[in-house]
Amino acid sequence: MDGRQFADEYAKKVLKSRCKVFIERYERLPVLNSIVVGEHPAIRSYVRVKERYFDRLCMVSKNHFLPEKTSEQEVLSLLRQLNEDSTVDGILVHMPLPDHINEEIVIENIVTEKDVDGLSPKNIYAWVKDLPGLIPATALAAFALLKYYRIPIKGKHAVVIGRSTVIGKPVAHLVLREDATVTICHSKTKKLGFHTTKADILISAVGKPHLVNKEMVKPNAVVVDVGINKKNGKIVGDVDFKSIKDKVSYITPVPGGVGPVTVAMLASNLLLTFELQQHDSDENIQASLRRYYTTFDDFYRDSNP
Ligand code: NAP
Repeated sequence: MDGRQFADEYAKKVLKSRCKVFIERYERLPVLNSIVVGEHPAIRSYVRVKERYFDRLCMVSKNHFLPEKTSEQEVLSLLRQLNEDSTVDGILVHMPLPDHINEEIVIENIVTEKDVDGLSPKNIYAWVKDLPGLIPATALAAFALLKYYRIPIKGKHAVVIGRSTVIGKPVAHLVLREDATVTICHSKTKKLGFHTTKADILISAVGKPHLVNKEMVKPNAVVVDVGINKKNGKIVGDVDFKSIKDKVSYITPVPGGVGPVTVAMLASNLLLTFELQQHDSDENIQASLRRYYTTFDDFYRDSNP
């Protein structure tokens, strides 16, 4: 499953035209503000990919790189400023944050309508309850690849490895919503391979290089590898791609799989938050949110994987 192709086609067929309409209607460009605390090579590389993609779409991506020793109060004060700034349409706080900063408190302080990564309490409530709301971009990306490649989900057994709020849990909800039977595995799961070999769809979001090997997958399974790890100076996923690729029917590479789609979903979420900023009633906000997910269905129907 080719994430770069997805990101390219989605930009051409959906994002460019929607962005153009919004820029004409609202007479300015959509603006994302991201906060990065400390030095993280993986985050820096994500930020670079994001900037290139956003440039193509005439979206503004502004980054606040803060030193590792930045206090929680300083991050919260920047967030307050961005929440109140009417020229800021989306806010993204890159995780992980240093240990002295409470991630929950930070996330709770992002205003719901600017929360492009769908992690604020109201957005989490929405995706857990299947209500319209913003969904974390990486989870949305893993799910989007399944839909793009027209992988049947209903009635299938999906196994998700990882239970983080940003990936594991929301992606499990997304496939559950499509009537998959879902097993969630984590670090305390005994005999991981026992579960993964039962998976028609296996989604790994752990962060351990080559955790999943050939013996752990069912023949003809669909494998989505969300992990990004460094091994011998190279970026690799959680899945041993080389040994598995001939055994399964579909698999995402790392790099070039979920990563580029995550950036596309982030851009898509930003366009939504841009639209939400223009509404002054909850009714209009809910209507935009409901409309948003139908645009994906149109794209999957007309896509050309
Ligand atoms: P996280 O918060 O550290 O969560 C990792 C999850 O993996 C946890 O639920 C943990 O279980 C579980 N786990 C750890 N070791 C395990 C093992 N040996 N067997 C089974 N489960 C195990 O990480 P995250 O933020 O969800 O990110 C996961 C991966 O996705 C990372 O590699 C990250 O770099 C990558 N990522 C990719 C993208 C993209 O665009 N492709 C974007 C963001 C992140 P416990 O809950 O029990 O601790």
